[in-house]
Amino acid sequence: AKYVYDFTEGNRNLKDLLGGKGANLAEMTNLGLPVPPGFTITTDACRHYLAEGDQPDGLEQEVAGHLDALEAAMGRKLGQADDPLLVSVRSGAKFSMPGMMETVLNIGLNDESVHGLAKQAGGNDRFAWDSYRRLIQMFGKTVLGIDGDLFEEALDRLKGRRLDTDLSAGELQRLVETFKAIVRDQTGTDFPADPREQMRLAILAVFDSWNAPRAILYRRQERIPADLGTAVNVVAMVFGNVGNDSGTGVAFTRDPGSGHQGIYGDYLQNAQGEDVVAGIRNTIPLEELENIDRRSYDELLQIMETLENHYKDLCDIEFTIERGKLWMLQTRVGKRTAAAAFRIATQLVDQGLITLDEAVTRVTGDQLAQLMFPRFDAAAEKKKIAKGMNASPGAAVGKAVFSSARAVELAERGEDVILVRRETNPDDLAGMIAAKGILTSRGGKTSHAAVVARGMGKTCVCGAEELEVATGERRFTAPGGVVVSEGEVISIDGTSGEVYLGEVPVVASEVVEYFEGAEPDGELVKAVDRIMRHADEVRRLGIRANADTPEDAARARRFGARGIGLCRTEHMFLGERRQLVEDLVLATTDEERRQALDALEPLQKSDFAAIFRAMDGNPVTIRLIDPPLHEFLPDIVELSVRVATEEATDKDRKLLAAVKRLHEQNPMLGLRGVRLGLVIPGLFDMQVRAIAEAAKEVRGARPEIMIPLVATVQELEAVREESARILAEVGVEALIGTMIEVPRAALTAGQIAEAAEFFSFGTNDLTQMAWGFSRDDVEAAFFSQYLDLGIFGVSPFESLDRDGVGRLVAIAVREGRAARPDLHIGICGEHGGDPDSVHFCHEVGMDYVSCSPFRIPVARLEAGRAAL
Ligand code: ADP
Ligand code: MG
Ligand code: MG
Repeated sequence: AKYVYDFTEGNRNLKDLLGGKGANLAEMTNLGLPVPPGFTITTDACRHYLAEGDQPDGLEQEVAGHLDALEAAMGRKLGQADDPLLVSVRSGAKFSMPGMMETVLNIGLNDESVHGLAKQAGGNDRFAWDSYRRLIQMFGKTVLGIDGDLFEEALDRLKGRRLDTDLSAGELQRLVETFKAIVRDQTGTDFPADPREQMRLAILAVFDSWNAPRAILYRRQERIPADLGTAVNVVAMVFGNVGNDSGTGVAFTRDPGSGHQGIYGDYLQNAQGEDVVAGIRNTIPLEELENIDRRSYDELLQIMETLENHYKDLCDIEFTIERGKLWMLQTRVGKRTAAAAFRIATQLVDQGLITLDEAVTRVTGDQLAQLMFPRFDAAAEKKKIAKGMNASPGAAVGKAVFSSARAVELAERGEDVILVRRETNPDDLAGMIAAKGILTSRGGKTSHAAVVARGMGKTCVCGAEELEVATGERRFTAPGGVVVSEGEVISIDGTSGEVYLGEVPVVASEVVEYFEGAEPDGELVKAVDRIMRHADEVRRLGIRANADTPEDAARARRFGARGIGLCRTEHMFLGERRQLVEDLVLATTDEERRQALDALEPLQKSDFAAIFRAMDGNPVTIRLIDPPLHEFLPDIVELSVRVATEEATDKDRKLLAAVKRLHEQNPMLGLRGVRLGLVIPGLFDMQVRAIAEAAKEVRGARPEIMIPLVATVQELEAVREESARILAEVGVEALIGTMIEVPRAALTAGQIAEAAEFFSFGTNDLTQMAWGFSRDDVEAAFFSQYLDLGIFGVSPFESLDRDGVGRLVAIAVREGRAARPDLHIGICGEHGGDPDSVHFCHEVGMDYVSCSPFRIPVARLEAGRAAL
């Protein structure tokens, strides 16, 4: 196997093997840019070393061979006493992990070659001793594992109030002695003087740094796979610390904040690479280099243009100037803010560097989502009191309230409120809707509060565990004894998870105003508009919304949905209608049951008619009632207490008996969905009739009736027959289809398709049942540990689990279509608005995705990206 690549052998497509830094150093070398010569040891070698605890056979010889070639090219040998070649040994993984791993500069210096280096630089002793002390410092810390503070403190003692550049050659020479003593003290051996031994140890230290705790943590957070390993780059040293005609800097080819082209960077005279980021001295703006070294400056601008034209994107770079000669030490396609990503993509189209297709692939749904939330004014003063999880982005300000009822009450008076709870449950829904934002002290990113808030596009910070929420006393306590009582104003940032005391000023999202129908205005919105139009043009997937109310349906249409993929009917049984549901449950005779259903039907009919109108001729998929009936009945504890008192009515006692009768150990697996429809005579019939009557009333209505929780075709056939009869009776047409949300349904999709005109994947339940995870319990209980353990990188409730749940989906799509080629297929679970899941839906051949109104632009964009 080949484990070492010279810079002339690699290229930018070899990031897996050479890491990002190595691949791009090779690319720049081949572009003819001034890169110091060097070579890259592959990630293969690192993986082998980490797995076996030893370097692969032949690696040392191969490295020696490349070093020989490097020495020949440079005309000097590594650490040669009278005229030394020095090298840096630099980590560089496939994905940039800034500052997480190690790099050692100035390898090859020892008590002899330090004099040779001084001679090389025209008798510059100061520079040589400065380089030597840097080597011992970096090597000591990185390779030998010595506490870096020991070196820093020795340096600080020597410097006093002076700058490092004020130290004389003699002082630096003494510092080298001090540093060597530190090494001896801490390790019991001398600093290794043999240059090749220095290099060998540094390479192994870079391999090992892949598994440094901070690197592991960073990978987990950024979802970078743990088994990639790092490449190691050995690069001939060039020196920015020779004097004032030398220096080092970093730059962007355009502003990563705004996307504008220009000169963005920092420069530090008489310094080595690390000094710029370490902040040991103040850097100067890159423009000022023009006055210091005009030639290098012009060359740098020229190179930046070359890189932009070559990479066709924003690049960031590291460079060093050694006595008037410019050297390029690193480049990569640079990180940028969400707004800059959109701007840059369209600017590059205007410059003729990329096509609109490419521009669509250069931005992500996550970036778009970031642009849609209002934000706190970055410049405002803030008093942070806690930090929780960034569950649903946005910025919300309001008075703290501690119950759903108070939230509703205050909101009705026109006040902005933040609902603060330990955790939320379905009873809090009204308060959550009324509130500007939701703050909980318990639960993770898929807790009830988080999921519901994201669905509503409402700001939410969850699991802020530092907060003691005392609901009864209507107050919470934050660290440092800060007490916030009902009515006091707080501000929560759902993008960062931060909680502030008092009001932080908010700026609205112009991107949402645009989606709401405002004319595209301003550079950013125009960029978004162009990219969205193109995404719509290229996408194959249709976009529908999960919407239960005419308001949501109307917003969804403005945001670009062409149909409703999931209209839930359960909320239509809440509020004042609870009474009617209670009557239904308590009915003991057919007559009583009929009366209760007859009372519900006109209400349902008007609900549906309003939604048909809002969707204006677009299809509306209505799911018949899904949750178990007891969810519509009073709480068992409250009711028991009431029954124990004198005022209890006869009805209360009957209700309690019914609640007890309906009580289930495991309601999510109990009497719900199609099971309920088959067991309670007339319930589904009433809903179907209401749909049919409403459709008859609204011209152009396109109802689709969706049966939830079907596990076997027999269930579906029973409902279907009855429904078809009612539709015929009323004289309207509607598709009849089913959700695929029980694993058995996915596995028998061929049979089920015989009775279904469409499938819609309910991936929330499907995930729950495929994994055997109770969604309402496991998430808060142990998902954070699962994430820490690396069992999964992202919750399967957030992003569709391709390997398991995805396999069920793929089977159902294939077998469903085999049985019925024109079967219409979509998804209506939370995943319908998740970028990676949208790509999956495209790949598996679905016809559409359906998601909450606020996620629709994200789904449109990702559907476009998936098609390219
Ligand atoms: P990081 O990935 O943390 O940026 P690098 O490997 O890029 O680490 O190196 C750290 C610093 O040392 C950078 O500023 C880089 O430009 C500088 N550097 C690395 N190799 C050399 C070299 N051969 N000559 C001069 N400076 C170098
Ligand atoms: Mg770097
Ligand atoms: Mg379901």
